[in-house]
Amino acid sequence: MESIYPSVYKLQRSVGSNGYAVVDGDAVAVVDPGMPAGSGRVIEELTSAGLLDRVTDVLVTHADLDHVGAAAAVQGATGARVWLGRADAEILEGKRPPATWFRRLLARREAPEVAGGLELLDGGEEPFPGVKAIATPGHTPGHMVFTFEEVVFAGDAVRGTDKGLRLMPRALTSDLSEAKASLDLIAGLGARWLCPGHGRIRELSAL
Ligand SMILES: [Zn+2]
Repeated sequence: MESIYPSVYKLQRSVGSNGYAVVDGDAVAVVDPGMPAGSGRVIEELTSAGLLDRVTDVLVTHADLDHVGAAAAVQGATGARVWLGRADAEILEGKRPPATWFRRLLARREAPEVAGGLELLDGGEEPFPGVKAIATPGHTPGHMVFTFEEVVFAGDAVRGTDKGLRLMPRALTSDLSEAKASLDLIAGLGARWLCPGHGRIRELSAL
């Protein structure tokens, strides 16, 4: 694991999206553990870092397979709670269709395994000490970003590019006006470090 900020690490072995870990004393939260295919590697990485037994929470930004896919396996290995935005939990549980036709197509090929007893987020909660969930719909209806001190774990609400903050492609945007409002919200958080779901970590003030 790569240390990126005091108490914050970037997973090196997750597959499909960027995964992170936040450490608070004896407790550890994993943010976006990635694709199901990478779950064994994430569990190995947490084990070799001496953190697996301390994982109490898995914080998932949204229900896309490349972010939530390994959550059930990490829960199985640790007994951790799995936190997810309410609307995305409904998608995961099959109670509402995936947002956008493109996702409905993808869902026919592979749907994520559902973790047991999801903890639902509406935004405003503190699912882990020092970590706040903020509702940022648009990429998906239940998308959450998580802040910890000067860090924002942004999932796919925004991408950091050399030209500034950008949205994900339209085929992966459930509601464009919500997505734009969420981008503005993230830009205005006052966070320093953008830890996105894809691409490298960037300093927000430089975007
Ligand atoms: Zn996504």
